[in-house]
Amino acid sequence: MTGSGHVPRDLPSIDRLLGDGAVASLLERYPRAAVRDALRAASDGVRQVLLRGDAVSSTLSKAIIDDASQRLEAAFRPGLVRVVNATGVVIHTNLGRAVLPPEAVAAVTRVATGYSNLEFDLESGRRGRRAAALETLLCELTGAEAACVVNNNAASILLILEALARGREVVVSRSELIEIGNAFRLPEVLERSGATLIEVGATNRTYPADYARVINERTALLLKSHSSNFRIIGFVREVTAAELATVGREAGVLTVIDLGSGALVDLPPLGLPYEPTVRECVQAGLDLVCFSGDKLLGGPQAGIIVGRREAVERCARNPLMRALRCDKMTLAALEATLSLYRDPGRMVEAVPVLRMLGAPLATLEPRARALAVRLSEALGEAVRVEVEPGRSLPGGGSLPGHDLPTWLVSLRSPLSEDAWAARLRHASTPVVVRVEEGRVVIDVRTLLPGDEDAIVAAALETVR
Ligand SMILES: *Cc1c(COP(=O)(O)O)cnc(C)c1O
Repeated sequence: MTGSGHVPRDLPSIDRLLGDGAVASLLERYPRAAVRDALRAASDGVRQVLLRGDAVSSTLSKAIIDDASQRLEAAFRPGLVRVVNATGVVIHTNLGRAVLPPEAVAAVTRVATGYSNLEFDLESGRRGRRAAALETLLCELTGAEAACVVNNNAASILLILEALARGREVVVSRSELIEIGNAFRLPEVLERSGATLIEVGATNRTYPADYARVINERTALLLKSHSSNFRIIGFVREVTAAELATVGREAGVLTVIDLGSGALVDLPPLGLPYEPTVRECVQAGLDLVCFSGDKLLGGPQAGIIVGRREAVERCARNPLMRALRCDKMTLAALEATLSLYRDPGRMVEAVPVLRMLGAPLATLEPRARALAVRLSEALGEAVRVEVEPGRSLPGGGSLPGHDLPTWLVSLRSPLSEDAWAARLRHASTPVVVRVEEGRVVIDVRTLLPGDEDAIVAAALETVR
């Protein structure tokens, strides 16, 4: 006999449940067929409970409807959600890389909620070139003759090799045959594009003469790649962009640099190490420079190719371009982000990636202290909340080997750090933290305005 005295025969029919007042609000939010399926699954669940002889604490209808409601909520929860990045990794590939400037979001909204002149020339009233204004802006910001934009920087490399090197030879230093992540390896991409890889130099040292020596009539281009996610230190000799350009010019072959992150501005004024900027590479005389839109640049996912007109146009005219071109939302976001770079005085504040990378310790410390106070008030005695200095990472293959001093809030409790981190990930607004020995760590560098509220709310959910 069950405690509540119910037996499976007492279960209400699905049709009766669909007429229940409590189901009306579900029917407003979800498709009728989904509500029916959820009620059926929930009813089966309650039947199993009753068959086991267990008690159902409320009325059968309420038990079924509550369960169906939870099932619907889970089934219709979006897969891609906003999370709080408390890791201190600014360009976090797994967490969506660059946070867009509000101006870029507004530009996306404008072109996405109405029609746009994507391929329409308002001057002549005829078909126009996609991204013409954006390309002009890229030339203005980099000093290049021409520009072309694709879906990501991996696509830039694919397009460049396909358009300029198919069936011919590409010369790369042994120290730069990189794997970028997700098994995108330069040697394999080269092979796929129908080009032959010619390796030169040694792992740690390559000289201009190494390139010059292998150039022949089959050589299509000399390719240099930024060592984004590693660094070789010690007895090292790297060929600079300018040296490579000289070798190429003298031999009459094209030169290309894949900058990876691609800084548009000087980094040392932001307190970051020197990286050659896109403009410097263009000035050094390389034919093509390619880089990502969503790394240091701080815009949407995109691959940007700039350089000499003839070489850029060969890429832009290649049939692959049709498959690799960006959609209007990306183009709008990129144009709006690049526009912010026209005002050097406002740029760092306006582009979140630059703002986070350049955030001074003097603003990070009070932020960490204020968050720690709120967290210890919320969490009580059982959790030890402390503020301590630490290190943040630029991430995204930018500035390899470089980290930034920061301030952290650390949480220690009887609960293991992994269990804490898991609970924070399951909060209504998931919070992704760093897990260090014996504690969970929140780096305030990557927090956006309002994230503190979400963290306190998530922490409260974890102890409830
Ligand atoms: C990140 C990176 C890429 C790939 O760029 P995506 O925009 O992620 O496709 C290619 N080359 C280098 C050197 C990189 O750092």
